[in-house]
Amino acid sequence: MKILVINSGSSSIKYKLFDMPSERLILKGTLEHIGEKGSKFADHYSGLKTILEKVDSVEAVGHRVVHGAEKFKKPVQVNRKVIKGIKECCDIAPLHNPANLAGIVACQKLLPGVKQVAVFDTAFHQTLPAHAYIYGLPYDYYKKLQVRKYGFHGTSHEYVAAEASRILKKPLNKLKLISCHLGNGCSITAVDKGRSIDTSMGFTPLEGLVMGTRCGDVDPALVTHIMTKKKIDSRVMECILNKESGLKGISGISNDMRSLEAKAKAGNKRAELAIDIFVYRIRKYIGAYLSVLGGLDALIFTAGIGENQASVRGSICRGLFGYLNKKPKIMVIPTNEELMIARQSYKLIRRG
Ligand code: ADP
Repeated sequence: MKILVINSGSSSIKYKLFDMPSERLILKGTLEHIGEKGSKFADHYSGLKTILEKVDSVEAVGHRVVHGAEKFKKPVQVNRKVIKGIKECCDIAPLHNPANLAGIVACQKLLPGVKQVAVFDTAFHQTLPAHAYIYGLPYDYYKKLQVRKYGFHGTSHEYVAAEASRILKKPLNKLKLISCHLGNGCSITAVDKGRSIDTSMGFTPLEGLVMGTRCGDVDPALVTHIMTKKKIDSRVMECILNKESGLKGISGISNDMRSLEAKAKAGNKRAELAIDIFVYRIRKYIGAYLSVLGGLDALIFTAGIGENQASVRGSICRGLFGYLNKKPKIMVIPTNEELMIARQSYKLIRRG
């Protein structure tokens, strides 16, 4: 069965075509500048039309959807009710869900009758216990405003956890894992018996680790303090926290870890500080999740930094488990969110 996997972002569409269940990758690509001035692609519909001209006999489409809130705990076949549900999540994921939805709607028009599956970044974390996902805020905000920890990168964490189980030749329900997804966006998840029990990203992907351009955990009082002092509104403040902070904001150089390592080696102190903060925050979370899990079989690294930057991995792991009787395995596992989406779509469709 040929399954097309679509990751439809606000200005780009990434796609991969798989033959399932062999998992053979047939084709992949990225279209950029969707909807931008002067672009070949006025909207997602015209972008997807171009993609579909390159592929034939697609039998199903798997879509990445960032936010499924509490409505979607697993992948679902798209129908009118699902579209309505994804639309309702746009309110709490205004940067991502509308673009994901545009991809789904375009595919429905271009491939009438072909089954579409929505796979949610948040779904894997729906197993979090309430004591991990409720914030220390008035409880009403959870009930009325859907304010809680959701967590993201779920497809990636789930994929690498399954890979770890395969490589270690031990069933997932016998494993305690911590997976570190370190790309431009970064998150860390405690996985107990194959279930996510805590994760660093929160209501939005801003919480947790220091990332390329996102600040991660900060004292919430500093947000209003900075807004008052700098006379900026919430939109500008949100942009600073999401796009001008993290490695980029601390170093004043770049959000790219490769450039920062080169600069730090050449003696740039701010680049060195940014890397130190990045590493320290990850070590803190690993310590916390070790105690949450009550043991650890393997620590997994994935995504751009996790897979490629051995020196960062070394700094994170140095002396980290010295006090443990049984040392966990340290694993580097390339993530493959698209394959996971293809697998889940195939499974759902096969089940009928
Ligand atoms: P995204 O979250 O955008 O998918 P990636 O997973 O591609 O991000 O990770 C980007 C980060 O990984 C950057 O900080 C980059 O410097 C770092 N990195 C290191 N080596 C590589 C590599 N070989 N390819 C891609 N990114 C790399």
